[in-house]
Amino acid sequence: MTDEVAIVGAGPTGLLLAGDLAAAGVPCTVLERRADESNLTRAFAVHARTLELLDARGLADELLATGTTIDRVSVLGGAVLDLGWLPSRFPFMLVTPQYHTERLLERRARALGARILEGVEATGLRQDADGVEVELRTEGAATERRRAAYVVGADGVGSTVRRAIGLGFPGRSAVQSMMLADVRLSDTPRDALSLAAGADGFALVASFGDGWHRVIAWRRGHQLPDSAPVDFDELRDTTRRSYGTDFGMHDPRWTSRFHSDERQVARYRSGRVLLAGDAAHVHSPAGGLGMNAGLQDAANLGWKLAAAAQGRAPAGLLDSYHAERHPVGRATVRASASILRLALARSPVVRATRGPVAGAVAHIPALNRRVTGFISGIAIAYPGGGRRAPDLPLTGGGRLYEALRAGRFVLLAPAGDGVPDGWTDRVDHAAAGSDRLLVRPDGYVAWSAGDGDLRAALARWCGPPASSGP
Ligand SMILES: Cc1cc2nc3c(=O)[nH]c(=O)nc-3n(C[C@H](O)[C@H](O)[C@H](O)COP(=O)(O)OP(=O)(O)OC[C@H]3O[C@@H](n4cnc5c(N)ncnc54)[C@H](O)[C@@H]3O)c2cc1C
Repeated sequence: MTDEVAIVGAGPTGLLLAGDLAAAGVPCTVLERRADESNLTRAFAVHARTLELLDARGLADELLATGTTIDRVSVLGGAVLDLGWLPSRFPFMLVTPQYHTERLLERRARALGARILEGVEATGLRQDADGVEVELRTEGAATERRRAAYVVGADGVGSTVRRAIGLGFPGRSAVQSMMLADVRLSDTPRDALSLAAGADGFALVASFGDGWHRVIAWRRGHQLPDSAPVDFDELRDTTRRSYGTDFGMHDPRWTSRFHSDERQVARYRSGRVLLAGDAAHVHSPAGGLGMNAGLQDAANLGWKLAAAAQGRAPAGLLDSYHAERHPVGRATVRASASILRLALARSPVVRATRGPVAGAVAHIPALNRRVTGFISGIAIAYPGGGRRAPDLPLTGGGRLYEALRAGRFVLLAPAGDGVPDGWTDRVDHAAAGSDRLLVRPDGYVAWSAGDGDLRAALARWCGPPASSGP
Protein backbone atom coordinates (compact mmCIF):
# COMPACT_ATOMS: atom_id res chain seq x y z
CA MET A 1 0.00 0.00 0.00
CA THR A 2 1.15 3.52 -0.72
CA ASP A 3 -0.50 6.90 -0.36
CA GLU A 4 1.58 8.45 -3.14
CA VAL A 5 0.05 10.19 -6.15
CA ALA A 6 1.95 9.89 -9.43
CA ILE A 7 1.42 12.61 -12.01
CA VAL A 8 2.46 11.90 -15.59
CA GLY A 9 3.58 15.11 -17.33
CA ALA A 10 5.31 18.24 -16.04
CA GLY A 11 3.41 20.74 -18.17
CA PRO A 12 1.49 23.56 -16.49
CA THR A 13 -1.37 21.23 -15.45
CA GLY A 14 0.86 18.60 -13.81
CA LEU A 15 3.06 21.18 -12.09
CA LEU A 16 0.18 23.10 -10.49
CA LEU A 17 -1.40 19.86 -9.32
CA ALA A 18 1.90 18.61 -7.88
CA GLY A 19 2.31 21.83 -5.87
CA ASP A 20 -1.25 21.64 -4.53
CA LEU A 21 -0.90 17.99 -3.49
CA ALA A 22 2.48 18.59 -1.87
CA ALA A 23 1.08 21.64 -0.04
CA ALA A 24 -1.67 19.38 1.36
CA GLY A 25 0.98 16.93 2.61
CA VAL A 26 0.37 14.25 -0.03
CA PRO A 27 3.55 12.52 -1.26
CA CYS A 28 3.67 13.17 -4.94
CA THR A 29 5.98 12.34 -7.86
CA VAL A 30 5.85 13.87 -11.33
CA LEU A 31 7.17 11.76 -14.23
CA GLU A 32 8.34 13.82 -17.20
CA ARG A 33 9.79 12.26 -20.32
CA ARG A 34 11.66 15.42 -21.41
CA ALA A 35 15.13 15.52 -19.96
CA ASP A 36 15.57 19.29 -20.54
CA GLU A 37 13.31 22.28 -20.42
CA SER A 38 11.63 22.74 -23.78
CA ASN A 39 12.43 26.00 -25.56
CA LEU A 40 9.10 25.87 -27.38
CA THR A 41 6.61 28.30 -25.93
CA ARG A 42 3.00 27.67 -26.83
CA ALA A 43 0.53 29.52 -24.58
CA PHE A 44 0.97 33.20 -23.99
CA ALA A 45 -2.46 34.34 -22.71
CA VAL A 46 -3.07 34.00 -18.97
CA HIS A 47 -6.65 34.94 -18.17
CA ALA A 48 -8.09 36.69 -15.12
CA ARG A 49 -9.46 33.62 -13.31
CA THR A 50 -6.09 31.89 -13.72
CA LEU A 51 -4.38 34.92 -12.21
CA GLU A 52 -6.85 34.67 -9.32
CA LEU A 53 -5.99 31.03 -8.70
CA LEU A 54 -2.30 31.93 -8.78
CA ASP A 55 -3.04 34.78 -6.36
CA ALA A 56 -4.65 32.25 -4.02
CA ARG A 57 -1.21 30.55 -3.99
CA GLY A 58 0.83 33.75 -3.64
CA LEU A 59 2.17 33.52 -7.21
CA ALA A 60 0.25 36.08 -9.28
CA ASP A 61 2.37 39.17 -8.68
CA GLU A 62 5.57 37.37 -9.65
CA LEU A 63 4.04 36.12 -12.90
CA LEU A 64 2.63 39.57 -13.70
CA ALA A 65 6.16 40.96 -13.57
CA THR A 66 7.21 38.67 -16.46
CA GLY A 67 4.78 39.98 -19.10
CA THR A 68 2.46 42.68 -20.25
CA THR A 69 -1.22 43.19 -19.43
CA ILE A 70 -3.97 43.91 -21.93
CA ASP A 71 -7.47 45.13 -21.13
CA ARG A 72 -8.75 45.29 -24.73
CA VAL A 73 -8.44 42.77 -27.53
CA SER A 74 -8.98 43.79 -31.12
CA VAL A 75 -10.85 41.09 -33.03
CA LEU A 76 -12.10 40.51 -36.55
CA GLY A 77 -13.22 43.67 -38.32
CA GLY A 78 -11.56 46.01 -35.83
CA ALA A 79 -14.10 45.47 -33.02
CA VAL A 80 -12.62 45.65 -29.55
CA LEU A 81 -13.42 43.30 -26.66
CA ASP A 82 -13.23 45.06 -23.31
CA LEU A 83 -11.85 43.23 -20.27
CA GLY A 84 -11.72 46.30 -18.04
CA TRP A 85 -15.16 45.59 -16.56
CA LEU A 86 -14.10 42.24 -15.03
CA PRO A 87 -14.94 42.26 -11.29
CA SER A 88 -11.48 41.05 -10.35
CA ARG A 89 -8.16 42.32 -9.03
CA PHE A 90 -6.99 41.37 -12.54
CA PRO A 91 -9.33 43.08 -15.05
CA PHE A 92 -7.11 42.14 -17.97
CA MET A 93 -5.24 39.34 -19.73
CA LEU A 94 -1.54 38.74 -19.08
CA VAL A 95 0.64 38.02 -22.09
CA THR A 96 3.72 36.06 -21.06
CA PRO A 97 5.46 33.03 -22.58
CA GLN A 98 4.28 29.67 -21.21
CA TYR A 99 7.74 28.87 -19.84
CA HIS A 100 7.45 31.67 -17.25
CA THR A 101 4.24 30.09 -15.89
CA GLU A 102 5.84 26.63 -15.90
CA ARG A 103 9.04 27.77 -14.16
CA LEU A 104 7.06 29.41 -11.38
CA LEU A 105 4.87 26.36 -10.86
CA GLU A 106 7.83 24.00 -10.95
CA ARG A 107 9.75 26.03 -8.38
CA ARG A 108 6.73 26.05 -6.07
CA ALA A 109 6.10 22.31 -6.47
CA ARG A 110 9.73 21.45 -5.68
CA ALA A 111 9.86 23.86 -2.73
CA LEU A 112 6.77 22.17 -1.25
CA GLY A 113 8.37 18.75 -1.57
CA ALA A 114 7.02 17.28 -4.83
CA ARG A 115 9.53 15.05 -6.63
CA ILE A 116 9.95 15.73 -10.33
CA LEU A 117 11.73 12.97 -12.25
CA GLU A 118 12.94 14.13 -15.66
CA GLY A 119 13.83 11.85 -18.55
CA VAL A 120 11.31 9.28 -17.25
CA GLU A 121 8.54 8.17 -19.58
CA ALA A 122 5.37 6.39 -18.48
CA THR A 123 4.73 3.61 -20.98
CA GLY A 124 1.71 1.89 -19.47
CA LEU A 125 -0.29 1.25 -16.32
CA ARG A 126 -2.51 -1.28 -14.63
CA GLN A 127 -4.91 -0.58 -11.78
CA ASP A 128 -6.50 -2.78 -9.13
CA ALA A 129 -8.74 -2.06 -6.17
CA ASP A 130 -5.92 -0.67 -4.01
CA GLY A 131 -3.70 1.24 -6.39
CA VAL A 132 -2.10 1.70 -9.77
CA GLU A 133 1.14 0.26 -11.12
CA VAL A 134 2.87 2.54 -13.61
CA GLU A 135 5.43 1.19 -16.05
CA LEU A 136 8.38 3.53 -16.55
CA ARG A 137 11.19 3.79 -19.06
CA THR A 138 14.34 5.76 -18.40
CA GLU A 139 16.91 5.98 -21.16
CA GLY A 140 19.67 3.43 -20.70
CA ALA A 141 17.88 1.67 -17.81
CA ALA A 142 15.64 -1.37 -17.53
CA THR A 143 11.86 -0.88 -17.43
CA GLU A 144 10.67 -0.21 -13.88
CA ARG A 145 7.34 -0.34 -12.12
CA ARG A 146 6.13 2.18 -9.59
CA ARG A 147 3.06 1.85 -7.42
CA ALA A 148 0.81 4.77 -6.55
CA ALA A 149 -2.54 5.19 -4.84
CA TYR A 150 -3.75 7.40 -7.70
CA VAL A 151 -2.33 8.41 -11.08
CA VAL A 152 -3.13 11.61 -12.93
CA GLY A 153 -2.56 11.80 -16.67
CA ALA A 154 -1.44 15.38 -17.31
CA ASP A 155 0.57 14.15 -20.26
CA GLY A 156 -0.88 16.31 -23.01
CA VAL A 157 -2.74 15.68 -26.22
CA GLY A 158 -1.10 12.33 -27.05
CA SER A 159 -1.69 11.06 -23.47
CA THR A 160 -0.26 7.59 -22.80
CA VAL A 161 -2.34 7.42 -19.61
CA ARG A 162 -5.56 8.02 -21.54
CA ARG A 163 -4.69 5.23 -23.94
CA ALA A 164 -3.62 2.89 -21.14
CA ILE A 165 -7.07 3.10 -19.53
CA GLY A 166 -8.69 2.42 -22.88
CA LEU A 167 -10.40 5.78 -23.38
CA GLY A 168 -10.75 7.27 -26.86
CA PHE A 169 -10.35 10.94 -27.71
CA PRO A 170 -13.37 11.65 -29.89
CA GLY A 171 -13.50 14.81 -31.98
CA ARG A 172 -12.04 16.06 -35.20
CA SER A 173 -9.14 17.80 -36.78
CA ALA A 174 -9.65 21.59 -36.54
CA VAL A 175 -6.91 23.24 -38.51
CA GLN A 176 -3.69 22.21 -40.26
CA SER A 177 -0.48 24.02 -40.98
CA MET A 178 -0.67 27.06 -38.69
CA MET A 179 2.52 29.10 -38.79
CA LEU A 180 4.00 30.37 -35.56
CA ALA A 181 6.88 32.81 -35.10
CA ASP A 182 8.38 35.17 -32.55
CA VAL A 183 9.50 38.30 -34.41
CA ARG A 184 10.50 41.93 -34.07
CA LEU A 185 8.19 44.54 -35.62
CA SER A 186 9.22 47.93 -37.05
CA ASP A 187 5.67 49.31 -36.75
CA THR A 188 4.00 48.65 -33.42
CA PRO A 189 0.36 47.52 -33.82
CA ARG A 190 -2.25 49.75 -32.18
CA ASP A 191 -3.45 46.93 -29.93
CA ALA A 192 -1.15 44.68 -27.95
CA LEU A 193 -3.26 41.67 -28.99
CA SER A 194 -5.32 41.49 -32.16
CA LEU A 195 -6.78 39.04 -34.63
CA ALA A 196 -7.49 39.88 -38.29
CA ALA A 197 -8.77 37.79 -41.18
CA GLY A 198 -8.76 38.19 -44.94
CA ALA A 199 -10.45 36.17 -47.68
CA ASP A 200 -7.84 33.42 -47.66
CA GLY A 201 -6.42 33.29 -44.18
CA PHE A 202 -5.98 34.98 -40.82
CA ALA A 203 -3.25 36.28 -38.54
CA LEU A 204 -2.89 37.03 -34.85
CA VAL A 205 -0.27 39.38 -33.41
CA ALA A 206 0.48 39.58 -29.68
CA SER A 207 3.09 41.66 -27.89
CA PHE A 208 5.15 40.06 -25.10
CA GLY A 209 6.01 43.59 -23.93
CA ASP A 210 9.77 43.08 -24.26
CA GLY A 211 10.09 43.97 -27.95
CA TRP A 212 9.19 40.48 -29.14
CA HIS A 213 5.88 39.68 -30.79
CA ARG A 214 4.15 36.34 -31.34
CA VAL A 215 2.59 35.91 -34.79
CA ILE A 216 0.23 33.02 -35.61
CA ALA A 217 -0.90 32.86 -39.24
CA TRP A 218 -2.82 30.47 -41.47
CA ARG A 219 -3.28 30.47 -45.21
CA ARG A 220 -5.97 28.57 -47.07
CA GLY A 221 -4.82 26.31 -49.83
CA HIS A 222 -1.25 25.97 -48.57
CA GLN A 223 -1.37 23.10 -46.14
CA LEU A 224 1.97 21.54 -45.25
CA PRO A 225 2.91 18.93 -42.64
CA ASP A 226 4.04 20.15 -39.18
CA SER A 227 7.59 19.16 -40.06
CA ALA A 228 7.78 21.62 -43.01
CA PRO A 229 9.80 24.74 -42.15
CA VAL A 230 7.98 28.09 -42.01
CA ASP A 231 8.70 30.28 -45.01
CA PHE A 232 9.12 33.75 -43.48
CA ASP A 233 7.94 35.46 -46.70
CA GLU A 234 4.74 33.44 -46.58
CA LEU A 235 4.20 34.45 -42.95
CA ARG A 236 4.67 38.13 -43.85
CA ASP A 237 2.41 37.84 -46.86
CA THR A 238 -0.38 36.12 -44.89
CA THR A 239 -0.15 38.79 -42.18
CA ARG A 240 -0.30 41.54 -44.83
CA ARG A 241 -3.36 39.98 -46.46
CA SER A 242 -5.13 39.87 -43.10
CA TYR A 243 -4.13 43.23 -41.59
CA GLY A 244 -3.20 45.24 -44.68
CA THR A 245 0.34 45.46 -43.27
CA ASP A 246 3.04 43.08 -42.02
CA PHE A 247 4.14 45.64 -39.41
CA GLY A 248 7.67 45.45 -40.85
CA MET A 249 8.30 42.07 -39.22
CA HIS A 250 11.89 40.88 -39.13
CA ASP A 251 14.46 38.83 -37.20
CA PRO A 252 12.37 35.75 -36.29
CA ARG A 253 14.00 34.09 -33.24
CA TRP A 254 12.16 30.83 -33.90
CA THR A 255 9.39 29.53 -36.09
CA SER A 256 7.23 26.43 -36.03
CA ARG A 257 4.29 24.88 -37.83
CA PHE A 258 1.53 23.02 -36.01
CA HIS A 259 -1.97 21.60 -36.32
CA SER A 260 -4.85 21.51 -33.85
CA ASP A 261 -7.66 19.07 -33.12
CA GLU A 262 -10.89 19.59 -31.22
CA ARG A 263 -11.36 16.62 -28.91
CA GLN A 264 -12.56 15.68 -25.44
CA VAL A 265 -12.40 12.45 -23.49
CA ALA A 266 -15.78 11.10 -22.31
CA ARG A 267 -14.70 10.50 -18.70
CA TYR A 268 -12.16 12.40 -16.61
CA ARG A 269 -11.99 9.58 -14.04
CA SER A 270 -11.59 5.86 -14.40
CA GLY A 271 -11.20 4.29 -10.95
CA ARG A 272 -7.91 5.51 -9.52
CA VAL A 273 -6.79 7.22 -12.72
CA LEU A 274 -7.74 10.79 -13.59
CA LEU A 275 -7.12 12.94 -16.64
CA ALA A 276 -6.50 16.70 -16.70
CA GLY A 277 -5.44 19.44 -19.10
CA ASP A 278 -4.73 18.66 -22.76
CA ALA A 279 -4.90 14.94 -21.96
CA ALA A 280 -8.64 15.45 -21.35
CA HIS A 281 -9.56 18.20 -23.84
CA VAL A 282 -7.87 19.95 -26.70
CA HIS A 283 -8.73 22.64 -29.24
CA SER A 284 -6.97 25.27 -31.32
CA PRO A 285 -5.24 28.26 -29.67
CA ALA A 286 -8.21 30.50 -30.67
CA GLY A 287 -9.31 32.23 -27.47
CA GLY A 288 -6.09 31.35 -25.63
CA LEU A 289 -7.98 28.87 -23.47
CA GLY A 290 -6.07 25.57 -23.30
CA MET A 291 -3.47 26.18 -20.62
CA ASN A 292 -5.96 28.20 -18.60
CA ALA A 293 -8.46 25.33 -18.69
CA GLY A 294 -5.76 22.84 -17.67
CA LEU A 295 -4.76 24.99 -14.69
CA GLN A 296 -8.42 25.24 -13.63
CA ASP A 297 -8.70 21.45 -13.90
CA ALA A 298 -5.70 21.09 -11.60
CA ALA A 299 -7.07 23.61 -9.09
CA ASN A 300 -10.41 21.77 -9.02
CA LEU A 301 -8.81 18.34 -8.67
CA GLY A 302 -5.97 19.05 -6.23
CA TRP A 303 -7.89 19.41 -2.95
CA LYS A 304 -10.33 16.63 -3.83
CA LEU A 305 -7.54 14.20 -4.68
CA ALA A 306 -5.63 15.18 -1.55
CA ALA A 307 -8.71 14.33 0.54
CA ALA A 308 -9.11 10.99 -1.29
CA ALA A 309 -5.42 10.07 -0.93
CA GLN A 310 -5.57 10.86 2.78
CA GLY A 311 -8.72 8.78 3.21
CA ARG A 312 -10.88 11.71 4.34
CA ALA A 313 -12.90 12.45 1.17
CA PRO A 314 -16.67 12.38 1.61
CA ALA A 315 -18.60 10.14 -0.78
CA GLY A 316 -18.76 11.53 -4.31
CA LEU A 317 -16.13 14.23 -3.81
CA LEU A 318 -13.63 12.80 -6.28
CA ASP A 319 -16.39 12.14 -8.84
CA SER A 320 -17.38 15.80 -8.63
CA TYR A 321 -14.14 16.56 -10.53
CA HIS A 322 -15.61 15.03 -13.70
CA ALA A 323 -19.10 16.40 -12.97
CA GLU A 324 -17.76 19.95 -12.66
CA ARG A 325 -14.92 20.10 -15.14
CA HIS A 326 -16.23 18.00 -18.05
CA PRO A 327 -19.02 20.48 -18.94
CA VAL A 328 -16.54 23.37 -18.71
CA GLY A 329 -14.15 21.46 -21.00
CA ARG A 330 -16.96 20.88 -23.50
CA ALA A 331 -17.93 24.58 -23.46
CA THR A 332 -14.28 25.55 -23.86
CA VAL A 333 -13.80 23.34 -26.92
CA ARG A 334 -16.99 24.80 -28.42
CA ALA A 335 -16.05 28.42 -27.69
CA SER A 336 -12.62 28.00 -29.22
CA ALA A 337 -14.15 26.24 -32.25
CA SER A 338 -16.60 29.11 -32.82
CA ILE A 339 -13.83 31.72 -32.82
CA LEU A 340 -11.75 29.56 -35.16
CA ARG A 341 -14.66 29.01 -37.59
CA LEU A 342 -15.23 32.76 -37.85
CA ALA A 343 -11.55 33.34 -38.59
CA LEU A 344 -11.34 30.48 -41.11
CA ALA A 345 -14.64 31.26 -42.84
CA ARG A 346 -14.57 30.35 -46.52
CA SER A 347 -18.16 31.35 -47.31
CA PRO A 348 -18.43 34.98 -48.50
CA VAL A 349 -21.67 35.29 -46.48
CA VAL A 350 -19.97 34.27 -43.20
CA ARG A 351 -16.97 36.44 -44.06
CA ALA A 352 -19.26 39.39 -44.67
CA THR A 353 -21.02 38.90 -41.34
CA ARG A 354 -18.03 38.24 -39.09
CA GLY A 355 -17.16 41.96 -38.78
CA PRO A 356 -20.71 42.87 -37.70
CA VAL A 357 -20.86 39.83 -35.38
CA ALA A 358 -17.62 40.86 -33.69
CA GLY A 359 -18.87 44.46 -33.65
CA ALA A 360 -22.10 43.42 -31.93
CA VAL A 361 -20.16 41.48 -29.29
CA ALA A 362 -17.94 44.50 -28.70
CA HIS A 363 -20.68 47.14 -28.66
CA ILE A 364 -23.49 45.42 -26.80
CA PRO A 365 -22.27 45.46 -23.19
CA ALA A 366 -24.26 42.39 -22.12
CA LEU A 367 -22.81 40.38 -25.02
CA ASN A 368 -19.28 41.64 -24.37
CA ARG A 369 -19.63 40.60 -20.74
CA ARG A 370 -20.93 37.19 -21.68
CA VAL A 371 -18.04 36.49 -24.04
CA THR A 372 -15.26 37.98 -21.94
CA GLY A 373 -16.76 36.54 -18.74
CA PHE A 374 -16.38 33.04 -20.18
CA ILE A 375 -13.01 33.53 -21.87
CA SER A 376 -11.52 35.11 -18.74
CA GLY A 377 -12.96 32.26 -16.62
CA ILE A 378 -14.55 34.76 -14.24
CA ALA A 379 -18.14 33.77 -15.12
CA ILE A 380 -17.55 30.02 -14.84
CA ALA A 381 -19.60 28.37 -12.09
CA TYR A 382 -20.29 24.75 -11.20
CA PRO A 383 -23.84 23.45 -10.92
CA GLY A 384 -24.28 22.46 -7.29
CA GLY A 385 -20.63 23.28 -6.57
CA GLY A 386 -21.07 26.98 -6.45
CA ARG A 387 -20.15 30.21 -8.02
CA ARG A 388 -16.75 31.89 -7.91
CA ALA A 389 -16.14 33.60 -4.58
CA PRO A 390 -15.04 37.20 -5.14
CA ASP A 391 -11.84 38.36 -3.46
CA LEU A 392 -13.63 39.99 -0.52
CA PRO A 393 -11.73 42.28 1.84
CA LEU A 394 -11.53 40.72 5.30
CA THR A 395 -12.47 42.45 8.51
CA GLY A 396 -9.22 43.39 10.21
CA GLY A 397 -7.19 43.41 6.97
CA GLY A 398 -6.22 41.09 4.16
CA ARG A 399 -8.30 39.51 1.40
CA LEU A 400 -10.13 36.23 0.95
CA TYR A 401 -7.63 34.98 -1.67
CA GLU A 402 -4.83 35.52 0.83
CA ALA A 403 -6.78 33.46 3.37
CA LEU A 404 -7.12 30.69 0.73
CA ARG A 405 -3.31 30.38 0.49
CA ALA A 406 -3.46 27.83 3.34
CA GLY A 407 -5.20 25.47 0.87
CA ARG A 408 -8.13 24.87 3.26
CA PHE A 409 -11.83 25.73 3.31
CA VAL A 410 -12.60 29.22 4.60
CA LEU A 411 -15.81 29.95 6.50
CA LEU A 412 -16.61 33.64 6.16
CA ALA A 413 -18.81 34.61 9.07
CA PRO A 414 -18.95 37.48 11.55
CA ALA A 415 -16.63 37.16 14.54
CA GLY A 416 -18.23 35.01 17.22
CA ASP A 417 -19.91 32.85 14.56
CA GLY A 418 -16.99 30.49 14.09
CA VAL A 419 -16.39 27.07 12.54
CA PRO A 420 -18.61 24.43 14.20
CA ASP A 421 -16.84 21.90 16.44
CA GLY A 422 -15.56 18.91 14.52
CA TRP A 423 -14.46 20.79 11.40
CA THR A 424 -11.84 23.22 12.73
CA ASP A 425 -9.11 20.82 11.53
CA ARG A 426 -10.16 21.42 7.87
CA VAL A 427 -11.82 24.82 7.87
CA ASP A 428 -10.42 28.26 8.73
CA HIS A 429 -12.53 31.15 9.91
CA ALA A 430 -12.43 34.72 8.63
CA ALA A 431 -14.88 37.60 8.69
CA ALA A 432 -15.95 39.77 5.77
CA GLY A 433 -18.60 42.14 7.09
CA SER A 434 -21.87 40.30 7.58
CA ASP A 435 -21.23 37.74 4.77
CA ARG A 436 -21.78 34.07 5.63
CA LEU A 437 -20.13 31.84 3.02
CA LEU A 438 -18.29 28.53 3.03
CA VAL A 439 -15.56 28.85 0.40
CA ARG A 440 -13.87 25.75 -1.05
CA PRO A 441 -10.07 25.60 -1.31
CA ASP A 442 -10.40 26.34 -5.06
CA GLY A 443 -12.30 29.56 -4.42
CA TYR A 444 -15.88 28.44 -5.20
CA VAL A 445 -18.81 28.90 -2.82
CA ALA A 446 -19.91 25.60 -1.29
CA TRP A 447 -22.58 27.13 0.92
CA SER A 448 -24.07 30.52 1.68
CA ALA A 449 -26.59 31.73 4.25
CA GLY A 450 -29.96 30.73 2.83
CA ASP A 451 -28.67 27.37 1.53
CA GLY A 452 -29.88 25.57 4.64
CA ASP A 453 -27.88 23.82 7.33
CA LEU A 454 -24.17 24.72 7.45
CA ARG A 455 -23.31 21.42 9.16
CA ALA A 456 -24.88 19.45 6.31
CA ALA A 457 -22.77 21.44 3.82
CA LEU A 458 -19.63 20.87 5.89
CA ALA A 459 -20.32 17.13 5.98
CA ARG A 460 -21.00 17.04 2.24
CA TRP A 461 -17.82 18.87 1.24
CA CYS A 462 -15.36 18.24 4.08
CA GLY A 463 -16.52 14.89 5.46
CA PRO A 464 -18.00 13.99 8.86
CA PRO A 465 -17.01 15.95 11.94
CA ALA A 466 -13.87 14.79 13.72
CA SER A 467 -14.75 13.11 16.96
CA SER A 468 -13.96 15.33 19.91
CA GLY A 469 -12.15 12.58 21.81
CA PRO A 470 -13.02 9.58 23.99
C1 LIG B 1 0.59 27.68 -30.74
C2 LIG B 1 -0.16 27.48 -29.47
C3 LIG B 1 -0.56 28.58 -28.75
C4 LIG B 1 -1.27 28.41 -27.57
N1 LIG B 1 -1.66 29.52 -26.89
C5 LIG B 1 -2.36 29.37 -25.75
C6 LIG B 1 -2.71 30.51 -24.97
O1 LIG B 1 -2.41 31.65 -25.31
N2 LIG B 1 -3.38 30.31 -23.80
C7 LIG B 1 -3.70 29.06 -23.37
O2 LIG B 1 -4.32 28.93 -22.31
N3 LIG B 1 -3.35 27.95 -24.07
C8 LIG B 1 -2.69 28.07 -25.24
N4 LIG B 1 -2.28 26.97 -25.92
C9 LIG B 1 -2.55 25.63 -25.36
C10 LIG B 1 -1.55 25.26 -24.25
O3 LIG B 1 -0.23 25.35 -24.72
C11 LIG B 1 -1.85 23.86 -23.74
O4 LIG B 1 -3.24 23.78 -23.46
C12 LIG B 1 -1.07 23.53 -22.45
O5 LIG B 1 0.30 23.43 -22.69
C13 LIG B 1 -1.57 22.22 -21.85
O6 LIG B 1 -0.86 21.96 -20.69
P1 LIG B 1 -0.76 20.48 -20.11
O7 LIG B 1 0.11 20.59 -18.91
O8 LIG B 1 -2.12 19.91 -19.96
O9 LIG B 1 -0.05 19.64 -21.25
P2 LIG B 1 1.45 19.85 -21.96
O10 LIG B 1 1.81 21.28 -21.82
O11 LIG B 1 1.29 19.25 -23.27
O12 LIG B 1 2.36 19.01 -21.01
C14 LIG B 1 2.36 17.60 -21.04
C15 LIG B 1 3.72 17.11 -20.53
O13 LIG B 1 3.67 15.69 -20.43
C16 LIG B 1 4.91 15.14 -20.91
N5 LIG B 1 4.61 13.77 -21.34
C17 LIG B 1 3.84 13.37 -22.38
N6 LIG B 1 3.76 12.03 -22.42
C18 LIG B 1 4.50 11.56 -21.37
C19 LIG B 1 4.79 10.25 -20.89
N7 LIG B 1 4.29 9.16 -21.48
N8 LIG B 1 5.58 10.12 -19.80
C20 LIG B 1 6.09 11.23 -19.18
N9 LIG B 1 5.84 12.49 -19.60
C21 LIG B 1 5.04 12.66 -20.68
C22 LIG B 1 5.29 16.08 -22.04
O14 LIG B 1 6.69 16.02 -22.29
C23 LIG B 1 4.87 17.44 -21.48
O15 LIG B 1 5.89 18.07 -20.75
C24 LIG B 1 -1.58 27.10 -27.12
C25 LIG B 1 -1.17 25.99 -27.84
C26 LIG B 1 -0.47 26.17 -29.01
C27 LIG B 1 -0.04 24.96 -29.80
